[in-house]
Amino acid sequence: MSAPRTVVTRFAPSPSGHLHVGGARSALFCWAYARQKGGRFLLRIEDTDQKRSSDSASIGFLADLKWLGIDWDEGPSFEGCGGGPNGPYFQSERLDLYNEQLDRLIQSGNAYFAFETAEELDAKRKLAKGEGRAYRYDRAALSLSREEVQSKLAAGVSGVIRFKCPGQDVTIVDEILGSATIPAGEIDDFVIRKADGFPTYHFAVVVDDEFMQVTHVLRAQEHFTNTAKHMLLQDALGYRRPIYGHMPIICNPDGSKMSKRDKDKLLRTAVKSANLTHPPENTVDPATFQSWMQDKNKQLDLADAQKVAEALRVVLPEINVDDFRRSGYLPEVICNFLALNGWSPGHDIEKFDNAFLIERLQLDRIQKTAAKFDRVKLLSFNADAISAMDREVYITRARAHGECYHAQFLERLAAGAFEKLAAASHERTKTLNEMFVTNDWAVADDESITVDAKTADKVLQRGAPTGLTHLIALVPLLNGVAEANWNPQHLESIIKRYADGAAEGQMGKVAQPLRVALTGGTVSPPIFDTLTVLSKSSVMTRVRRCIHAFTSPA
Ligand code: GLU
Repeated sequence: MSAPRTVVTRFAPSPSGHLHVGGARSALFCWAYARQKGGRFLLRIEDTDQKRSSDSASIGFLADLKWLGIDWDEGPSFEGCGGGPNGPYFQSERLDLYNEQLDRLIQSGNAYFAFETAEELDAKRKLAKGEGRAYRYDRAALSLSREEVQSKLAAGVSGVIRFKCPGQDVTIVDEILGSATIPAGEIDDFVIRKADGFPTYHFAVVVDDEFMQVTHVLRAQEHFTNTAKHMLLQDALGYRRPIYGHMPIICNPDGSKMSKRDKDKLLRTAVKSANLTHPPENTVDPATFQSWMQDKNKQLDLADAQKVAEALRVVLPEINVDDFRRSGYLPEVICNFLALNGWSPGHDIEKFDNAFLIERLQLDRIQKTAAKFDRVKLLSFNADAISAMDREVYITRARAHGECYHAQFLERLAAGAFEKLAAASHERTKTLNEMFVTNDWAVADDESITVDAKTADKVLQRGAPTGLTHLIALVPLLNGVAEANWNPQHLESIIKRYADGAAEGQMGKVAQPLRVALTGGTVSPPIFDTLTVLSKSSVMTRVRRCIHAFTSPA
């Protein structure tokens, strides 16, 4: 018996956009399994579909994986990860190897050239449909002589290479789904090299898994039936058979696929309810916006959709890893939650870290059926993790988030104000993003703070004394506080003393008008924190402006 091979798992994304949570979950399980077995985890970029691939997408994938804490032993070099003896790790750079292996198949009679045009194949497909039979390639090209093939190739006729299927039942043994037999005749002579000279996914994946010494192929269920093709190719090429495990898809709670279309749907609803006929300023160009509005099947590209959503202050549903990052989810929470979407350690354990996942992951405990992604639960996991953080850690992580996504916000805050604002927001916040989007007042120009009529009526103009009366009385008191004493404790003592005398000790009666004057709204961190996130001069300006706005001229 041969010695057991070192476990090698791989994640092999096609860089056609951003890293979807489903892909991230595949990567996480492959990584954890390799770590558990003391093996290697490799990353391979499947960019043989030139139309769908882009360099920036693959860089995005790498950054997303790093952010999640998923490191790779072999693969594209990126921030300390990658390299390795079995590269290159971009399929588009491995054409010589594929051609060599294709040649072997042709020489052994297991593959052949075919030159039908797309139209010819289409006609054959239509005919089969009309006759009520399933289309299978009819092997017409097999009747071409060697010389005919050579002369077509020499004349530059565009052709593909097909695998000559042995026509036998194939039984797939799957560690997650169990076994299934794909009957002979279901698989026809599929294309293994396209007319553009690139191998198809089926061929490249089989060659690479062999040459990269992959022992375990853990991937999405959508590839389950492809496995039969891969096994036939492995046999024809004399390769080893990896162990297979196909993981359930992740879907929305209503069972629909979690896809980028969900974003578009929500954005359309928001645009409709805002009655927009033109794009918000500095978002997309009007022509793009109009043609998107007029065609339900069109989608704005992600960056444009994000701009429009931000202008409308709506949050698009997160689908890709970088969406969750932007929304302020913690990578460790995302990993925990993704692992739970499809796997469970049992004993009602739900919260765990990656070390636990590495220790406990068992392929036969991965579920067979689709996993439903419960956003409400994810948010509560995130909120719990944030509230369990040490204050200092929270401040550091919130700042790092701000540096990525809210640089202007940070620039506009006064020195030291960020720490105060973060500390005051920590307990009430569910994501790292929340403090930035709910505290605009902290970075707004003093002149831009306005109070709407309804709020003014409720908070400033009703009761006896009115909120406005309190504000007027507070001006000299606040003005009398020395800059050196502009801190929550001192301000509390001053305002409390005032409230005791003028509002029967009801601090809310005084705090709320002050909050409205400072922020324009009725929700903000505790009032003494709100006061000190702002400088004394900002506070005085805002309070005076508010008084002025609601004091009728004599
Ligand atoms: N490139 C394929 C995908 O992104 C990978 C399939 C596989 O893991 O074999 O779906």
